[in-house]
Amino acid sequence: MNEAFNAGMKALREHMAREVEKAPVPPDDVLARTITRRDVQQYDVYFIWGPGRDIASRTDCGHGYYLTDSCPCCDADDDN
Ligand SMILES: [Zn+2]
Repeated sequence: MNEAFNAGMKALREHMAREVEKAPVPPDDVLARTITRRDVQQYDVYFIWGPGRDIASRTDCGHGYYLTDSCPCCDADDDN
């Protein structure tokens, strides 16, 4: 079971590495300021799977959660 899981994760990582290569990179002015949840949504591959994950995983969404986590407050905002 673990082997199948690991193979699945490996395939996913390889797939996402290809997605990251194709994904749009945020402009310099976005990267120069503090990123927001909206930036992460707009450039999700870059910020979740790509080089931007470092920043996103250290940036607070404003409710005490990191931008790489799902936040119930932000999710509630999205519904409005
Ligand atoms: Zn939030």
